Amino acid sequence: MAGAMALAWINPGVTRADTWDLVKFENRDYVSIQNVADFYKLQNTADDGKSVYLKSPGCTIQGAAGSKELTINGVKFILSYELLPQDGKILLSRIDLTKLVEPVLRPSKMRNARPIRTIVLDAGHGGHDRGATSGFGDEKDFALDTVMRTRELLLKRGYRVVLTRSNDTFIPLNERAKFANQFRDGIFVCVHFNAGSPTGTGIETYTLAPRFVPSTDQDGPAVSDMQLCAGNIDDPENMALATAMHASLLNRLPMTDRGIKRARFWVLRECTVPAVLIEGGFVSNPQEASRIAQPVYRQTLAECIVQAIGNYQRAIGQQPNGLLVNNGGGGGSRTPAMSVTNSNLNGIGIGATNNNPFQSVGSSVPMDGTAARVGASLGNGNEGPTVVVPRQH
Ligand SMILES: [Zn+2]
Repeated sequence: MAGAMALAWINPGVTRADTWDLVKFENRDYVSIQNVADFYKLQNTADDGKSVYLKSPGCTIQGAAGSKELTINGVKFILSYELLPQDGKILLSRIDLTKLVEPVLRPSKMRNARPIRTIVLDAGHGGHDRGATSGFGDEKDFALDTVMRTRELLLKRGYRVVLTRSNDTFIPLNERAKFANQFRDGIFVCVHFNAGSPTGTGIETYTLAPRFVPSTDQDGPAVSDMQLCAGNIDDPENMALATAMHASLLNRLPMTDRGIKRARFWVLRECTVPAVLIEGGFVSNPQEASRIAQPVYRQTLAECIVQAIGNYQRAIGQQPNGLLVNNGGGGGSRTPAMSVTNSNLNGIGIGATNNNPFQSVGSSVPMDGTAARVGASLGNGNEGPTVVVPRQH
């Protein structure tokens, strides 16, 4: 363990936590949970060195030392690295701070988030590639049906919708990503259903692993994880979109929350528009397969996807198409409005030119280019942050 390093902000008018104390462990940078609490003006209510419980009126963050699970407003995230117990404190890896916590807590600060006009819907598998199979039907058909239902709903709301496949054909993965990348005002939503042991259950959402971190199903970073993938250009947007998607799905579908995870699936790696892959339940689990086989389930799934797209747009400061979500509530759905105005988080000014918790003048700690884009260009002290996660527990 190396010594702590203090990074001082050089910004006039800063009134909140203005120092990050970095701690090195196994060659990685960490920050203390107390530091995170101070930065985001959250109350640290479990300072016992074992559990994480940060709270403000609009945001609750929970976790435990030694665990990779972190819940934000009740939605589960799988961290790239465990929460590290250290001298009675708990530490969060810097990469999880910049690539997960920051875009989730302050998506409106993502400077490079582009307004969304086009939704690229990608039904997994197709043709000879049936995906997961069951007595109730094949994954490829469930995915296509969900996508077609989503398309209908989106078209009604005035979105431009394009599909990688609209029938039972096999489309190579590279062609799917290449197709999506034509639409610079687009987002890519890939729909799959899961397979595993018969008892595997629940919904999980994947987003591209940032450079240098392992995929969720790996133990440690592999050499190939050191490569920058094309899709890493949208790291913050990917995470914000995945969060909006996962929260929306879990809000309405009575399913186990398996968390938001990291992967380097081809379509995520190669997409240069914000991209997310959802696994909408286990076809290999007979109970879940029978549920997925019901049109009402897939219709709800489609509605959740549409809701999530609106939530993402709102999070980046864009007016969502249609009136699916209004400012005050879910427009008839169970999903509450995602705009969480939290006076305690208002005005966390780190200066209009700083867009990252770590991007301080004089910082000797190198950040990769995408990390530096995680946004916080706070120009307006009255602007409320918008937590991507609408649920509260
Ligand atoms: Zn699949």
